[in-house]
Amino acid sequence: MPPTDPQELIRPNIMRIKPYRPGKPIEEVERELGISGIIKLASNENPLGPSPLAIEAMEQAVRETRLYPDNDCFYLTRDLAEHLQVPPERIVVGRGSDEILHNIGLAFLRPGDEVIVPDHMFTVYECTGHLMDATLVEVPLKDHTYDLAAMAERFSERTKVVFIANPNNPTGTSVGRGEVERFLEAMPSHAIAVFDEAYYEYVDDPDYAQTLGYVGGDKHVIVLRTFSKIYALAGLRVGYGIATPEIAAHLQRVREPFNVTNVTQAAARASLRDPGQVERSRKVNAEGKAYLYREFERLGLPYVPTQANFILVDVKRDCLPVFRGLLERGVIVRSGDVFDYPTHVRVTIGTQEENERFIAALEQCLA
Ligand SMILES: *Cc1c(COP(=O)(O)O)cnc(C)c1O
Repeated sequence: MPPTDPQELIRPNIMRIKPYRPGKPIEEVERELGISGIIKLASNENPLGPSPLAIEAMEQAVRETRLYPDNDCFYLTRDLAEHLQVPPERIVVGRGSDEILHNIGLAFLRPGDEVIVPDHMFTVYECTGHLMDATLVEVPLKDHTYDLAAMAERFSERTKVVFIANPNNPTGTSVGRGEVERFLEAMPSHAIAVFDEAYYEYVDDPDYAQTLGYVGGDKHVIVLRTFSKIYALAGLRVGYGIATPEIAAHLQRVREPFNVTNVTQAAARASLRDPGQVERSRKVNAEGKAYLYREFERLGLPYVPTQANFILVDVKRDCLPVFRGLLERGVIVRSGDVFDYPTHVRVTIGTQEENERFIAALEQCLA
């Protein structure tokens, strides 16, 4: 007798999880197309790379990899507490903010609980919901922006978690203080609002909601940030959450031991000591954004104004041939179809040189 078909063993909700489709890695495109000199503007990585201080700290830390890392991320937590001006008990560090998103699901979602998300969402939210057999309540974006008023209308007895990417990915839009305050006022006390602020450091809208101030208020709020984007440590996998000490302790309970490597802890700490790297990155991003806006306008392509380091642009035709045409010209972007935007591509803002190469390639593809 052969063993039972795994299809009969698997939890049915797991079959609803769509495998994550990341931006194509450079090596994969080189292998498939046999070309070199490829640029990747597909995963919102920082083109400037990590701080030299972080690289130096990593080089030192590599010598200690014989030992398990500090399970509590004691020093990184202390440095983050100082950086954010919050008590260390409020901080949890994870293997990317993705791990913390999963852990929020593990700790809090019971089968049938409702998770409120937008219809064009960061795919990890969907995955977390299905993993825990929760019910996803999808609310349409309005003008490519989270519609917090419409989301508030969907609150129920079963609402447990609301995932709010601010700025949102893939649209780059953000929500303001007034909207967030009205949303939290309307939110039931048994629900948890998760503000996923992966692009926090890029935001320049003065009305952007500063959500750290809501942690410990009269509603449950978790704020997530990451070292993957402006700090350019995506390959190391490290992010952090800020919550009340009680919620933080629950998240610590479900995480894996030794979730953040010693090399990673060292790099993250060193990055916090180099605010100049963040400033330079913001500047390159702002200049690149202005350049790309001008070029999209020249080409007659509508785009969504962004608060982050990427732009969703409407190429006004099926995005897949454009995506492939760009690939063949050595430029990797993200095709919009994975986000249910079939005529858009999402491009990460690169260096001036990369942006110019992208525009030249795009013009050829559209000709
Ligand atoms: C990039 C991104 C993250 C960061 O993920 P990490 O696991 O920290 O690398 C989280 N949320 C959104 C919306 C993102 O775009």
